[in-house]
Amino acid sequence: MSATNYKFAILHVAQGVELILKERLRQEHWVLIYDKVEKPDKSRTIDFETAVTRLQGICNISLTKYIDGLRGLRNTRHEIEHYRVSLSGQEAATLIGRNIPFLMKFLEDELKTTLQERIKDEETWQELLEIESVFAKAIEKAHEEKARMCNSREEDQEYLRIVECPLCGLDYLVIKDKRDQEAECLLCKHVSELEECIRCHKLFSTGEWLEEGGLCADCAPYGEERHINQYLEILNAATE
Ligand SMILES: [Zn+2]
Ligand SMILES: [Zn+2]
Repeated sequence: MSATNYKFAILHVAQGVELILKERLRQEHWVLIYDKVEKPDKSRTIDFETAVTRLQGICNISLTKYIDGLRGLRNTRHEIEHYRVSLSGQEAATLIGRNIPFLMKFLEDELKTTLQERIKDEETWQELLEIESVFAKAIEKAHEEKARMCNSREEDQEYLRIVECPLCGLDYLVIKDKRDQEAECLLCKHVSELEECIRCHKLFSTGEWLEEGGLCADCAPYGEERHINQYLEILNAATE
């Protein structure tokens, strides 16, 4: 499969998930799939987060167990639509594999059908099962590798940090060395560029939050101090 096909696979699965969520809301009451329930405009249906809020608040369906995986899928769909990210087979399979348990459970519990019933063609069904089992094995392997890294010699983990991967949304993105420019996810193999906090010099993946001006969350409160220092520098330079 080509990179373009991986993108289409993600777009289709992400859209399918949204349609399934909306279908459950529609069954509760048709008006729930529209933005304004008091005055439904049929050209404006709700977005993903509103669907989740309504399913939890109105239909009493807990999505806590699946929400991170669903958001990961939704975010990647957004990236594909707006920034033309490239996806590898491993990344696409991780995103899909991670969400298969949700699809199976939600269809069965909430829409009284099964995924297998809906996928008419046997080959596609087998392929999906394959993706699910490959994902289960990959996560086990990534978990072992992560444990090994965390238990390695102290000097080997001086700079080691394992943070959330911006693509699969799981905590497997490894920052090994202070000099590295990139970090790789143990699970989906996504490579993320790194940015350095200008104050504490810790590295962060570009998917993590860095305050405007390049400060990490811990250092953000010192932003003010930095502005004053910059101001003093400019003042000194002007008076020299
Ligand atoms: Zn990942
Ligand atoms: Zn910092």
